[in-house]
Amino acid sequence: MKATIKDIDLKNKKVLLRVDFNVPLDDNQNINDDNRIVEELPTIKYILEQDAKLIICSHLGRPKAKEAKYSLKPAAVRLGELLNKEVKLSSDVVGKDSVAKAKALKSGEILMLENLRFEAGEEANDETFCKKLAALADVYVNDAFGTAHRKHASTYGVAKLLPNAVGFLMGKEINAILGAINNPDRPFVAITGGSKISDKIKVIDSLLDKVDTLIVGGGMAYTFIKALGGNVGKSIVDDTKIELAKELMDKAKLKNVNFLLPIDNGCGTEFSKDAKRKEFESFNIASNYQGLDIGKKSVKVFKRALKSAKTIIWNGTLGVSEWENYEFGTKQVAKAIAKSKATTIIGGGDSAAAIIKFGYKDKVTHISTGGGASMQLLESGTLPGIEVINDVKKED
Ligand code: AMP
Repeated sequence: MKATIKDIDLKNKKVLLRVDFNVPLDDNQNINDDNRIVEELPTIKYILEQDAKLIICSHLGRPKAKEAKYSLKPAAVRLGELLNKEVKLSSDVVGKDSVAKAKALKSGEILMLENLRFEAGEEANDETFCKKLAALADVYVNDAFGTAHRKHASTYGVAKLLPNAVGFLMGKEINAILGAINNPDRPFVAITGGSKISDKIKVIDSLLDKVDTLIVGGGMAYTFIKALGGNVGKSIVDDTKIELAKELMDKAKLKNVNFLLPIDNGCGTEFSKDAKRKEFESFNIASNYQGLDIGKKSVKVFKRALKSAKTIIWNGTLGVSEWENYEFGTKQVAKAIAKSKATTIIGGGDSAAAIIKFGYKDKVTHISTGGGASMQLLESGTLPGIEVINDVKKED
């Protein structure tokens, strides 16, 4: 088990806390959604309660160099408002200003470093940059799950140089996702969707070792349907993955996994929100149509599988759920998950956006904050940013 902030001594220590304050900003640098900051408050408050000197670091966007529009100032201001407390912001990341401000910090005070990605050493996990970052603090805490699949200086390199632990948010993500895949109550049902099969193949392969039922929907499904000999019209298909799709379906058989594909589909003549919806059976989609959603019969079959499930993991939409004409399947599956008494884990990205959009945010066990990170965690059972954290010392 990885050490959490409750397992290490933070008393009067300088704590370097990696957070995910990559918040959406409008053109006037106003924060559109401060959820990532609000969710971080329990970890921040706990650290401050230990009379620690808190140094917060995060990335924001993808700056090429130091660009004012990527400054963390709006996040520092918002955090200050939420805590009703001053949050100092350094003008650099590991330069003179940061060093001086970190040195002057008193117990209970907060310093935020400027955007980590203003320094090339961050993404390169550069040794010198890691050392400078580590030199600012006594202890390192990672609470940024969304970047834990990256081997960056602030998510990986610096952890090797300081006593370390994960924060409450990271701990929650690890427990929810690993708890579900390593120790699931059965039946265990996974739903995968989205458009790109190449992104999800490893996840599907790994899930086939664990689940009782695997549901494949979304654009991905048509590569499998074509592999089975179906006519999928203009639906998106990755022809380079047909053989792999066959191998995965063979693996499902071998492992006795109930492998479910859509049997009917809402289709349009073009990839457009205005494309008029017409239903086709999966094996007979007309040549001028493409599947953009699953149909009613598929929903019925998928719902039946979900009804008896005790653990459900969902990653990827069942159709183009951003468009009213093609949101049906995703909405129905989201509803079934929300109604379920199972442990329900929603991977980040589009499925998280869908569960929130359809109003089921509070009806699921866990919504992951990291799309890429949660996929990689499902796939490999760990992440660089987790692996690098020390295990809890066991009492004799
Ligand atoms: P991904 O990034 O691979 O998880 O894909 C998510 C995207 O897949 C969403 O934006 C959906 O609109 C899209 N998607 C879902 N089903 C389909 C489909 N049948 N055809 C094309 N795109 C789809």
